[in-house]
Amino acid sequence: MAGTSASAPRLEAEVTGWDDESDVVVVGFGCAGAATAISARSAGADVLLLERAGASGGASALSGGMLYLGGGTSLQKACDIHDTPEEMYKFLMAACGPYADEVKVSTYCEGAVEHFDWVTDCGVPYEPTFDPEPHGRSRESDGGLVWVGENSYPFDVLAVPAPRGHRVATPGHGGWLLMEHLAKRALAVGATVRPDTTVERLVVDRDGAVIGLEARSFGQTVHIRARKGVVLTGGGFVFNDEMLGQFAPNLIGHGKIGTDGDDGSAIQMARAAGAAIKRMEAGNASLMVPPQLLLPGMLVNAVAQRFINEDTYFGRVGQHSLFHQRAETYLILDGNTYDSVPREQRMGIRPKWVCETVEELENEVGFPTGSLQASVEFYNRYAATGSDPLFHKNRRWLKPLESPFGAVDLRPRVHDNGMMQSRYWVFTLGGLHTTINGEVLSLDGAPIPGLFAAGRTTSGIQAWGYISGTSLGESTFFGRRAGRAAAKV
Ligand SMILES: Cc1cc2nc3c(=O)[nH]c(=O)nc-3n(C[C@H](O)[C@H](O)[C@H](O)COP(=O)(O)OP(=O)(O)OC[C@H]3O[C@@H](n4cnc5c(N)ncnc54)[C@H](O)[C@@H]3O)c2cc1C
Repeated sequence: MAGTSASAPRLEAEVTGWDDESDVVVVGFGCAGAATAISARSAGADVLLLERAGASGGASALSGGMLYLGGGTSLQKACDIHDTPEEMYKFLMAACGPYADEVKVSTYCEGAVEHFDWVTDCGVPYEPTFDPEPHGRSRESDGGLVWVGENSYPFDVLAVPAPRGHRVATPGHGGWLLMEHLAKRALAVGATVRPDTTVERLVVDRDGAVIGLEARSFGQTVHIRARKGVVLTGGGFVFNDEMLGQFAPNLIGHGKIGTDGDDGSAIQMARAAGAAIKRMEAGNASLMVPPQLLLPGMLVNAVAQRFINEDTYFGRVGQHSLFHQRAETYLILDGNTYDSVPREQRMGIRPKWVCETVEELENEVGFPTGSLQASVEFYNRYAATGSDPLFHKNRRWLKPLESPFGAVDLRPRVHDNGMMQSRYWVFTLGGLHTTINGEVLSLDGAPIPGLFAAGRTTSGIQAWGYISGTSLGESTFFGRRAGRAAAKV
C-alpha cells in the first residue's frame, strides 16, 4: 500500500530510526483522543498523544459541551426523568437515520449510563436541573438536562420521549470545561503529550500492519513507533475543501463548525494505508434561526409548501432544508411574532418582504400564484383549532398568522466578491469505517492490524440525521473502547 501521495504510508524498511515510542500512540488531543488515552492508560499501556496544535482542545473545546446520553443516567434520575436504553435506541435509530449504524447505536445506548458516570468521574460538573424549553433556551446558566427534539413529531410517537441532552454546568458553551477535565485526567493517569506535532503518514510493516507514524515536530521530521497500536482521533474534514468537493459538496460554502485541524489528514493517511471509508457525504447542518421566530413561524420551500414541523430539533430543520430543499427556503412570519422577540435575540433575522396580504407577499417573493395563499389558508384553518395535520407541530406554537405578513429569505447569498453568506453551519459526519472497538476496517472488511480510530475521524452512529450531543457523546464513548482495544493488542 506504500505509494507516492502526500499521505502514503512509509515502509518500515525506509525508517532509519525511531525518535520516540509508546505502546499506544494517539493522533489528536480532542475529546476522542483524551478518552482514548485515559482508557488505554487505565488498561496498563504507555500512551503518547500527538497534537498538531500547541495544546489539547480541538473542536471539542469550542463546542457547546452537550453530550447526548440516556437510558437512566444519574442526571436523569436526579431530575425525575424516567428513561430506558430501549427508548433511547428507538429515538436514535430514527433521528440519526435512515440507515443509522444499528450495532453502534445499540452499543452506545446500552453503555450510556455507565459512560455518563465515567464522564462525571473525570470531574466534569453537572447540575441536577431540567430546562423544559425547546433547545434549553429558558435559562442563561447551563448545566443540566435539555430536550433535543425527543418530544417533537415524529419522534414523540416513535419512542417514549425523554430529555437526553446533558449540558456541562457552566454558563454558555461548556466544551472548554469538558475538555479541561478530560485533558487533566489523561495527564493525571500518566499519558504523555507531544504538542506542535503534525502526523503526516503511517508507517507499515511488509504485511501492511501499522507499526508507527511519521510526523513534523518543531520543524523536524520524526518517526514514532507504536508497540501496540496507533489510534487516529484527528477530527473530521470540514476544513478541507478538496475533500468536501470530492465527498460532500452539499457542505461547501456554509459556515464551518470545527477548527483548521479538521483537515481530513487522519482519514487520508488511513485511506492511503488501505482503510475503508463510510458515509462521507453525511453532515450536520444547523440552520441559525432563533427558536422564538422559527417555532411560531411557517417554514416553506421554493413553491411555498411546508416540509417539516418547525418545532423539531434545529439541526434536523437544517438538514431537511439544505439537503432536501436545496436551501431554497423562507420563513413566513407575522408582525406580532416578529415584534414580540427583542432585537438582540433575533440573530440578525429581518423579513426581506413585508406585505398587508398573503397574495401580495406571494407576488413579491415570486412564489407560484396561489401557492402561498393555499399554504397559509390551510395552516391558519387548522392552527385556529390547535392542530397541524401535515407535520404535527405542537399546539403550543400554533397560532393563525395575521397581517402584516413577512418572509425571511433563508437562501445563502453569493456576494459580488464571490463570498457566500449562509445561515447554515456544517460539519462532516463521514469517516473511517470502524468496528465498535475502533478497529479500522480495510476495503475487504478485515481490521488493519495496529490501526484504530474514534471521534469525527470515523463514521459513527449517525447516517443522514444528526442530534446535538451525539458527536461529543460517541467520540468519548467509542474513544474509550478504541483505547482499551489498542492497549490489549
Ligand atoms: C461551536 C461548536 C459547538 C459544538 N457543540 C457541540 C455539542 O454541544 N455537542 C456535540 O456533541 N458536539 C458539538 N460540536 C461538535 C463537536 O465539538 C465535535 O464533533 C467533536 O468535538 C469532535 O471530537 P474529536 O475528538 O473527534 O475532534 P477534535 O476535538 O477536533 O480533536 C481533533 C484533534 O486532532 C488534532 N489533529 C488533527 N489532525 C492532526 C494531525 N494530522 N496530527 C496531529 N494532530 C491532529 C486537531 O488539532 C484536534 O486537536 C460542536 C462544535 C463546535 C465547533
